[in-house]
Amino acid sequence: MPVSKAWRERLTNARDTRQCAQQWRARRIKQPGQLDFAGNDYLGLAKDPRVQAAQVEGARRFGAGAGASHLVNGHLAVHEALEEALAAWTGRERALLFSTGYMANLGVLQALAGTDTAIFHDRLNHASLLDGSALSGARSRRYHHNDIDDLTRLMTRSGCACKLVVSDGIFSMDGDVADIAALARVSQQHNAWLMIDDAHGLGVTGANGSGCVGPHWGSQQVPILVGTLGKALGTAGAFVAGDSLLIDHLIQFARSYVYTTAQPPGVATATLEALTIVQREPEHRERLERHIDYFRKEALRLNLPLGKSRTPIQPLCLKSESRLLLWAERLHHAGIDVGAIRPPTVPKCESRLRVTLSASHSRSDIDQLLETLNTCRREVP
Ligand code: PMP
Repeated sequence: MPVSKAWRERLTNARDTRQCAQQWRARRIKQPGQLDFAGNDYLGLAKDPRVQAAQVEGARRFGAGAGASHLVNGHLAVHEALEEALAAWTGRERALLFSTGYMANLGVLQALAGTDTAIFHDRLNHASLLDGSALSGARSRRYHHNDIDDLTRLMTRSGCACKLVVSDGIFSMDGDVADIAALARVSQQHNAWLMIDDAHGLGVTGANGSGCVGPHWGSQQVPILVGTLGKALGTAGAFVAGDSLLIDHLIQFARSYVYTTAQPPGVATATLEALTIVQREPEHRERLERHIDYFRKEALRLNLPLGKSRTPIQPLCLKSESRLLLWAERLHHAGIDVGAIRPPTVPKCESRLRVTLSASHSRSDIDQLLETLNTCRREVP
């Protein structure tokens, strides 16, 4: 333990939350055979033997690690190939790899925005976007969730010359989709740039799985597109896609790009394989869509507190935190993992089970989940 009294007091005061998270984590160590309805491996590619083999092959060819940052000599041929493939997939001039989505969002906002910038956030944007704003020193405003009138009102009032509108593509806790067309329209009307974090849309929706934005909305409408690789693509890392002016700026100024070791080459090789599968095999997406329809139909029939989402993220709003924990515990004992999302990740009284569906589930996996949820509903009302 630290000797200083001030430090001891600080850590002791935080202990309740820390113990709670620590105990939770220890009990949630993933067990083989546990049904996973909590992760974001939407297409089941993390366990696809072709992706796994590519990872081994990439590590064998290029090394287990990149050995240095991109600007020293860690930028390898496989990173270059992956960036080109990601740019082509999303219909952008260039793409730039980051080690995680969190770092991509931090890097973009820190590199682009400053004290002369106003950033307009959807109220439900991911924490990494809010943290990136704080790091940049820009003035942040949060508009009501998916409320274009509120966004317009805030932008009209702003005197800042540099405006940036930022939104998740698919919202990570509610599973609903941003109105990209409306965001692009009002951003253009106010000379603002638009940044979409499509972490949960890529691979899952759009032509060739290219997400909520993809080539459909070009760099004119959505100049900054962020995607993560640890969800539908089943690996790890992230990228920013846009035109050369943007990417060159990020290579120079995004500190979370410059000052960190490049993505392990095995991961980049595996991601290239996953990307090929996503583009060539629409059947995984189609199967996922059938799962979503089936889960929703049955959950409504059972009177479960289902939201409106049509995506693989299907929250069940239980409101009270204690009820949520009881349901989550029962599911866990039945061998089923479901995300239990509590404040501060969501507002008070909006605690929820975050069910996520994947193409790797079978119909009987989903039936098992529904049956256990129904028991929870009856026994822990
Ligand atoms: N953006 C969104 C919308 C996310 O949901 C997440 C992860 N949950 C991230 C960014 C961060 O991505 P990563 O896990 O690769 O850091």
